[in-house]
Amino acid sequence: MHVETVPELKVKIGLEVHCQLTNLKSKLFCSCSADYRDSEPNTHICPVCMGMPGTLPVLNRKAVEDAIMIALALNMQVSSRTLFYRKNYFYPDMPKNFQISQYDRAGGVPIAKDGYVTIDGGRKVRISRLQLEEDPGKLVYEGTIETSKATLVDYNRAGVALAEIVTEPDITSPREARIFLQKLRSILEHLGVSSGELEGSMRCDANISIEGGTRVEVKNISSFKEVERALNFEMTRQRSLIRKGLRIGRETRHWDELRRVTVTLRVKEEEEDYRYFPEPDLVPILISREDVERLRASMPELPDSRKRRLMEQYGISMQNAEVLTDNKALAEFFEACAANYSRPDLLSNWIVGDLLSYLYDMGLELRETKLTPQHMVGMLRLIDDGTISGKIGKEVLKEIMVTGEAPENVVKARGLIRISDREYLERLTDRVFEENPKAVKDALKDEKAVRFLVGQLMKLTEGKADPQLANILVRNRLKASAGK
Ligand SMILES: [Zn+2]
Repeated sequence: MHVETVPELKVKIGLEVHCQLTNLKSKLFCSCSADYRDSEPNTHICPVCMGMPGTLPVLNRKAVEDAIMIALALNMQVSSRTLFYRKNYFYPDMPKNFQISQYDRAGGVPIAKDGYVTIDGGRKVRISRLQLEEDPGKLVYEGTIETSKATLVDYNRAGVALAEIVTEPDITSPREARIFLQKLRSILEHLGVSSGELEGSMRCDANISIEGGTRVEVKNISSFKEVERALNFEMTRQRSLIRKGLRIGRETRHWDELRRVTVTLRVKEEEEDYRYFPEPDLVPILISREDVERLRASMPELPDSRKRRLMEQYGISMQNAEVLTDNKALAEFFEACAANYSRPDLLSNWIVGDLLSYLYDMGLELRETKLTPQHMVGMLRLIDDGTISGKIGKEVLKEIMVTGEAPENVVKARGLIRISDREYLERLTDRVFEENPKAVKDALKDEKAVRFLVGQLMKLTEGKADPQLANILVRNRLKASAGK
């Protein structure tokens, strides 16, 4: 039979990331508190952010400083003069019927342009521009956008400062999109300007096209966790259309988080006309070289330099250092543990390997668990002093992440202490030999069968036997039976 292989078609992904500047106390153009998350709907509003006639916006200076720091961290060129535009559209989330943004078409001058982020040990994803704009209000649906009977509007978010970061279509897979976003999030968190831990503080639109095909936009990806999923779905959808010989239409699709599919939002043949014009109520922003240099000098340590420092200071591998610094919370956790533990390379393996995979399986962020550096180090010490095996350590780690119990208590309460009672283990070894006569015969000339017997002994003790001792006992017993 002849099977025709379909070559994998290349994917190009560009991202448009919206990050709330969560370190700001007030909104971008008024004094309403930007800390709105736990408030009743429509309680953080004023005539300015509600767009009442006769009100005037006043620019939040700190927002501009945040944007400049982000630009520097992303290796961008900061503009010396930039201005705000009105982006006109009629939609219930914008009470003014325009959004104060920056001109994102040819000829527009954003706060900064032409930078890059390095991912995966050296690949560059180019950043085309960074701009400041105000967040719209929030539309609230019951259930999904398609089934909800009514749309409610909460304007608490309207006017909150957003940094919009736009990449070139340099990303080549959904996985790489996730890695890029993790890195970006880590950079912003190191800068202290935006916290990805707050719900909805970092959102993302993506455009994706398959080699030579039409670009499709996917909107409403409300968290970085969802990006890889949404892009995987969209990539598969487009590939299957291409295989069937169908055309991919130019359209904007919506990511339905509950059903985990993208659905058509609007089909557009040409760019929408937002009738952009300069915001007449705000003067242009002038950014001096001195301002830029002052901010550059005040920049904290960023993930790339932290990565190099962790490698030098603790002697950990580049790969581990990269994973740790792509997640600020994880890097901080590592350093807090390393301060009280003498084997940082081993520690980094535990964090990057076991801990990270448990977090992934549980769908949790580190701060959502009850794990403390003291307990992590405590668990490792129990392994080091022979109280428990590495395998039991993994079980203990999972448990202390959920319960917050001290590792010593978990080990005691669950009877997990390593068995190094020689007499007891010898009796069990006898049993293993009785129950596996064929393996015993093979073990005289086959190392694999020896390991099998040791494995059986470990299994009888539910992994609690001292593995070194188990090994010795099995081999001694083999020697004894060979001598017979
Ligand atoms: Zn306001």
